Amino acid sequence: MKTVIMGAGAMGSLFGGLLALRGEEVWLVDIWKEHIDTIRSKGLVLEEKGKAQPIPIHATTEVASVGKADLVLIFVKTYHTEKAVSDARVLQKESTVFLTLQNGLGNEETICKHIDRKKVLLGVTGQGATLLGSGQIRHAGWGKTYVGELDHQMTDRAIRMAKMFCDAGIETETSPNIHDHVWGKLLVNVGVNALTALTGFKNGQLLDYPETTRLMERLVFEAAEVAREKGVHIEEDPIERVRKAIEATRENRSSMGQDFDHRRKTEIDAINGAVVREAQPLGISVPFNQAVTDLVKAIEKSF
Ligand code: NAD
Repeated sequence: MKTVIMGAGAMGSLFGGLLALRGEEVWLVDIWKEHIDTIRSKGLVLEEKGKAQPIPIHATTEVASVGKADLVLIFVKTYHTEKAVSDARVLQKESTVFLTLQNGLGNEETICKHIDRKKVLLGVTGQGATLLGSGQIRHAGWGKTYVGELDHQMTDRAIRMAKMFCDAGIETETSPNIHDHVWGKLLVNVGVNALTALTGFKNGQLLDYPETTRLMERLVFEAAEVAREKGVHIEEDPIERVRKAIEATRENRSSMGQDFDHRRKTEIDAINGAVVREAQPLGISVPFNQAVTDLVKAIEKSF
């Protein structure tokens, strides 16, 4: 299986590195030239549980030089999906599969603008990674990964893909209800990301104050109402689920928090902004999600 990863940042390099270690043919594609040059000359350095190892892996800034792919894994930030997927069209043959494990909502729609829906699979991952510098990443989280077909079928190609990830040490399951998993992860991001960005808090601090706890609960409550109205099945009490996720990552600074710390654009449009978009046609009022979206976007503009 030839896997091409569009976006070789923290997560793209993590998945690419683990697959390459397992002996899979993997190509990393990124527009960040220094990073790609470092990987080509010194290998991709993966730091895991205190140990660092260089992994030899194909890497390029020229997607057209890669040839055809069996699997294209999209791992750019959500606001770069459109361009990356458009560029990745050259990788296609009849049987090529495109998979996104990005956070948030809207990736499916963006990918399907450029790629036949029949070729697209969706997923979420509880794995975590941090980019340490050019050519170097840290494996920072080990949660489960889920992949599934858009039409809810359990197909051989989804099962094969999950097996390939599992063989590389990435615990993965196929799901006939992948949208439920996407929303499940979205609810956590909705409750944590914007609030930690706006307050400067680590995840756990949100539960240390009644004010931020209340705001988290309102954000999640609104998003869960939208999810239910859309027919998404949410297994447990969504607020409880988010509380547990916060407790489990108490010392972490969320990705949106880190984006704010570095005065970078965030994925707000795919998270709280997506809740606002989804709520509108359903006639559901989501004032808390609207407020944090507006605040994050206004601050972003000042960077
Ligand atoms: P990142 O910023 O570390 O990496 C994104 C990479 O994409 C960058 O290296 C950038 O140069 C590259 N890129 C941008 N435009 C491109 C293009 N047109 N073609 C090729 N490459 C391009 O981001 P990340 O942390 O790896 O996150 C990627 C996605 O995964 C996001 O949606 C994020 O929410 C999600 N995610 C992240 C984590 C995590 O722990 N970091 C965990 C789960 C999900």
